[in-house]
Amino acid sequence: MYDDKGWHHEGYHLIGEFYSEFADYDVMIELPINYLTGATGELVGPNGENERMKKLSSGPYNDSTYGVNKTVYYRAKNVTDFAFVADPKFLFERIMHNDIEINILKTRKNLKHWKSVGDYVIKAIDFYSEKIGKYPYKRITVVDGNITAGGGMEYPQLIIVKSTSSPISISLPGMKDKEILERIVAHETGHQWFYASLATDEYNEPFMDEGINSFYENEYMIANVHKDEKSKRGELYKNMFLSSIIYYANITYSMNTSCASFDNSLLYGSAIYSEGPLVMREIRTIMGEKVFDNFMKEYYNKYTFSHPRLKDYISLVYKFTNRQNADYIKRRLTENIVNDFKFKEVMIEGDTVKIMIDKGDFFPQLPISLFYKDTILNYLAPEGTGLQRFYIKGTKGLKNIVINKNRDVFEVKRLNNYWKNLPKFKILGTVPDFDHYQIFLGPYAWYDSRGGVIAGLWLEGREFINYDFLMGKNQWHAGINWQFKNSHPEYIFAYSTPLIAQRNYLKFYFNYTISNYIYTSQITLKKKFSGDFFFNVASSRYLIGKVTITYKDVSKVDSIYIDPINYEKGKMSTINFGIESKETFKYINYNITGNLQLGKNRCLSDFDILKGAVTMKSRIGGRKKILGVDLFAGAGNSDIPMNYRFDMSGDMMSYAFDGKHIKAYSGFSGKLSFLFPYIRPYISAGYLMHPTVNCGIYYSAGMFIDAKIASINIPIFYKSPDMSKFDYRILFIFKVMDIDIGSISL
Ligand SMILES: [Zn+2]
Repeated sequence: MYDDKGWHHEGYHLIGEFYSEFADYDVMIELPINYLTGATGELVGPNGENERMKKLSSGPYNDSTYGVNKTVYYRAKNVTDFAFVADPKFLFERIMHNDIEINILKTRKNLKHWKSVGDYVIKAIDFYSEKIGKYPYKRITVVDGNITAGGGMEYPQLIIVKSTSSPISISLPGMKDKEILERIVAHETGHQWFYASLATDEYNEPFMDEGINSFYENEYMIANVHKDEKSKRGELYKNMFLSSIIYYANITYSMNTSCASFDNSLLYGSAIYSEGPLVMREIRTIMGEKVFDNFMKEYYNKYTFSHPRLKDYISLVYKFTNRQNADYIKRRLTENIVNDFKFKEVMIEGDTVKIMIDKGDFFPQLPISLFYKDTILNYLAPEGTGLQRFYIKGTKGLKNIVINKNRDVFEVKRLNNYWKNLPKFKILGTVPDFDHYQIFLGPYAWYDSRGGVIAGLWLEGREFINYDFLMGKNQWHAGINWQFKNSHPEYIFAYSTPLIAQRNYLKFYFNYTISNYIYTSQITLKKKFSGDFFFNVASSRYLIGKVTITYKDVSKVDSIYIDPINYEKGKMSTINFGIESKETFKYINYNITGNLQLGKNRCLSDFDILKGAVTMKSRIGGRKKILGVDLFAGAGNSDIPMNYRFDMSGDMMSYAFDGKHIKAYSGFSGKLSFLFPYIRPYISAGYLMHPTVNCGIYYSAGMFIDAKIASINIPIFYKSPDMSKFDYRILFIFKVMDIDIGSISL
């Protein structure tokens, strides 16, 4: 691609896509006669190829010409790329929709899920055509293909959609296969507008295709799948979820960020696929829906089959809205704006509500909703930045006032968007609103040869501030389990709430835990600067006082940390220094951690313990990761108390032999595991040194089964010098999730 900025030679990267010029293609592909094909462009030859594809799809192919090759001929005009697929196992189906030819290439194994794909394509074409403009081509081919790049991939007139036919993902609450499939089909179909015909620079301006397209994908889902208010809010929350993590981690991006600037796929996904649609939603709010729709239609009309830039998009904004709004939108798209609206004051005088809100840098009108006993009234707070004062008539039956109720403006921190009309006296507390309160329920089961069967249940609840889990107040956790072998119960109850939790500021938590072993209450202060500062005061049955200070220098590529300085009254105090390095060498990703621990007892003279360890975890096979090699070596001086010794089993085989540790002074070990999709067989061996217990070589083999919602470790063989009897534990880890962050499709 060559434009006024010169040559664009970006290849196909892990993060981001490409930017290419329009061209005509005449492509001839010679391949075995029993192959079905799909491609960009029109199928020109050979004669009768469509009929042959239909025949091939209807049963086993027994033409006498089997083994002979054919040449298929595709012709495509004015496209930025040419793509084709070929497979003898495809099942071909063609449907016509308003003169648009829809070709579907399905596979037999996903037939059940794919029976509605034709409908999804039609719905998506209709939705995008109505919102943006007429479908730009005469045809589209949808292919069932198992690609690794997210949920699907777009090419001109051809899209690949990954089937999500795994039986496990169906059972996850809130993650329906059908819905994911429809979402991906809508998203990839949308790329025929935002990529294929509006051929933007996907590498330097990813917002222009993925950001805008993801906005329409979400709008499609709201219009077709999440019609009711609650479900619609859940849909918007999916976008918010990823962005809020990035927001609280103080890593946000502006919408003109190039793919080269993102350190990893999570940050790219958050900025472009999550924040992008929310920023689009904000632009729509500012312009007003009707004007916005006209603006988008004009954008498509003006720039179709060309290469619009973000600056072109922005200059068109100025033609559709007033200067101040347009100036703000321009800033919204080119700067890293973090909006946080809040109430400053609300006063009720007679029948008038006097409201003062802080709009920060946000200039345009801002949605405000007043919740009355039987109705909700929506207003717009006046234009202008900073503090804005306005009056609304009507106080009878007023319950709440909420800023930005429907997330029409992108804002993560919503804790201060609520004002509640509290009565003067209140005797009983209110029952939590289940829209804002979530309860998680999880089964709990394991077996080990010592404790026998252990079964239990845990419950967890937290008050979400408009689904914002990071602000979650009043979190509690209750769990109980029963050990059948020795009829022994275990229980735990914990409560925690943020007292102050603000981005960029000190975080202050209170936490109380009680169980049959310990009770702890603690107050935690957290402060973020270049590293992390963490101050923790705790008290418990055994612990009188404890101070933990953690410093982690995240500004370095690899981290250096002191973690933690631990002072326990009347006990040993330790300090831990570490250095961590993550590297990639060809197909090997490895992670080396070096650790040095010093500890002194009550006598303040010399260090009573000194120990050091090096751990290396490597995953071989590049992105596929087929082999895992873990190595560990550690040594300490002879005075190490029991709880500071090396957990040899824990270091290497925590899944399998949790609780069955061999406490050693020093030793080394290695583990090799095969990283298959669901089953990970492993072998491990090591050598332990200890002055009193039997030491020497230990080795083991087993397999770890990870079936997404449940994980099971099955040790097959275990031999250790201090153990004559085979001893094992099977642990089921159930992952119950109530939140769905949605799938990211490229
Ligand atoms: Zn995409």
